[in-house]
Amino acid sequence: MTKELTKEDVWTIEEAENLYRVKLWGESYFYVNEQGHLSVRPILGDPIGIDVFRVAQDLKQQKIQFPLLIRFQDLLRSRVSELNNAFRRAIEEAEYRNVYVGVYPIKVNQLHEVVQEILEAGRPFSFGLECGSKAELVAALPHLEDDRTLLICNGYKDWTMMRLMLIGQLLGKNVIPILEKYSEIQLMLPLASELGVRPKFGVRVRVSVAGSGKWAASGGDASKFGITISELVNMIDELTARGVADGFKLLHFHLGSQILDIQNLKQAVKEIARIYATLRKRGLDIEYVDVGGGLGVNYEAGEVTSPHGINYTLQEYTNAVVYTVKEVCDAEKVSHPILVSESGRALTAHHSVLIVEVMASHRRDAVQDSLAPEKIDNPVVQELAKLLAFVTDKRRKSVPILLETFHDAAEKRQEVSLLFELGYCTLDQKAIAEKLYWSVCINVNRMLQRRNPELLPKDLMAMREQLTDQYLCDFSVFQSIQDYWSVGQVFPIMPLQRLNEQPTRLATLVDLTCDSDGKVDKFIAPTGAKNALELHRLVEGEPYYLGIFLVGAYQDILGDIHNLFGRVTEVHVYADAEERDNYFVEKVIKGTTVQEILAVVQYFPNDLQRRMEQVIQQKVKEGLIRPKVGVQLLDQYSKAFHEYTYLDSNDGA
Ligand SMILES: *Cc1c(COP(=O)(O)O)cnc(C)c1O
Repeated sequence: MTKELTKEDVWTIEEAENLYRVKLWGESYFYVNEQGHLSVRPILGDPIGIDVFRVAQDLKQQKIQFPLLIRFQDLLRSRVSELNNAFRRAIEEAEYRNVYVGVYPIKVNQLHEVVQEILEAGRPFSFGLECGSKAELVAALPHLEDDRTLLICNGYKDWTMMRLMLIGQLLGKNVIPILEKYSEIQLMLPLASELGVRPKFGVRVRVSVAGSGKWAASGGDASKFGITISELVNMIDELTARGVADGFKLLHFHLGSQILDIQNLKQAVKEIARIYATLRKRGLDIEYVDVGGGLGVNYEAGEVTSPHGINYTLQEYTNAVVYTVKEVCDAEKVSHPILVSESGRALTAHHSVLIVEVMASHRRDAVQDSLAPEKIDNPVVQELAKLLAFVTDKRRKSVPILLETFHDAAEKRQEVSLLFELGYCTLDQKAIAEKLYWSVCINVNRMLQRRNPELLPKDLMAMREQLTDQYLCDFSVFQSIQDYWSVGQVFPIMPLQRLNEQPTRLATLVDLTCDSDGKVDKFIAPTGAKNALELHRLVEGEPYYLGIFLVGAYQDILGDIHNLFGRVTEVHVYADAEERDNYFVEKVIKGTTVQEILAVVQYFPNDLQRRMEQVIQQKVKEGLIRPKVGVQLLDQYSKAFHEYTYLDSNDGA
């Protein structure tokens, strides 16, 4: 008896692309190749493709440790071009009479190579940076290569930060502190006179529209940042009185990350444009309108028209900004400002892929073909065997009949449990009963495969969920996909291989941590989310890799060392048509070792080794182990300090 879902003879790579919704979340970048491997075309407008499964296999062969994060650096560049080109198209089409200059908020991914790649790709577009803390400012300041490149400084500031920003201005750099609250003027003005600079600055305004979705709290009236309209009016009076109003160069708002509804954005842009127009008419020389971040990423792989996820495209976003500002300015007869945006997520999410290996699968125990009837002596267990015989005979059965059969099986199973507790049923009989019960469920479920899940009785749906396999994966949810755990963000997940073969199992993923939250049981689906993912049956001795996609924004940086699993190995891959398989690895950054992660929580090798040595010596003294063995044991212990925190599947060699 096979427990597989119904198996079709032919399964095409198009079906795989549809099932895993590759075209929707992967934009033009990801696809399934003819070998049934997930692949990437990282360079915009270039057909060169890289087989991601092949990359994983090559890296494995080179003994590079999994899980690993692959960065497709070309894809990062492509996203920078896409964003800038979309703004250029909108500006041209709208006949907008100024330019767009974007900045990259480095908090989204501060890795030096990521920032450098973005700056390099952004050079033709004068793309700049945004920072929000002291450390980010220190990192960003020396990276402004030409004097026009913008550095926008958000976040609460102290003396050191404000001084550094003004030093940047003193050096002729285009550094713009954004005043987040009124009192920051008191910080800026004395420092400016001390340094002898006429300060340039911007103001973050609290717009009345809130964002939407999981990050909405960072914008709108309730935001912890920004200056209210009434404060703004007072501030202008004060700036004018102090003779520094000419330094007011930029108006800024930020609705929060991952704006879901384009209407919210339009409304906020309209509001800021109106403020801009009013202030210009009052004689202030504001040059920039900065619409913040929040450009969404289609993690949910929704259609633009679907109620899940973001409801606009990149081009619609840029059009909304450009046309809205233009309309307001034209109506108010003021000049068009330079447009700035601070998109982070939308630039970096796509370029990195986390690759995890499935270590094992756990499935429900079902009965073997060979179960002999004479082994069943308990009458209730015999009833269960009859139910199984009924669902496995060849006749068609209606949904109500299947529902009834399932209810009967559940009832019998419970009866067996009760009998066992009271001592009227042996452990062996109970074990058989469990297997029979799951076999009934599996067969009922198989007969429901072709039915629309939305029309099924809820008991059968619940049963189906219990039937899913658990695939144990070598990674930590808390380290690598924080937002899944903390805010319930789904990420596209799919196998990298066998995509020309129908997946026959339904599974949830469990990670290595001992935390019951260390699992993934929500996956992208046309209906928003589903509780199990279609995967292939594991083949002994054959690696099975899963890709977790769109993890390039925030996830690396938010990583939490739950259970002391550290940063994963990172590999930077570039496309190159001259190379075998179209790519080369430019850099491998080793993941955290046991020793490094322990140091974070104040355990150090010397001390730990001394303690371990004492334990061993004590046992040698007691005669439990030989001294020579003691030395070997200590050696084994010490070796672990240098190892990767994840499972070493190369072990045993
Ligand atoms: C976080 C943040 C951004 C980036 O938002 P994304 O959603 O990643 O585009 C931009 N501006 C400010 C002020 C931020 O705090």
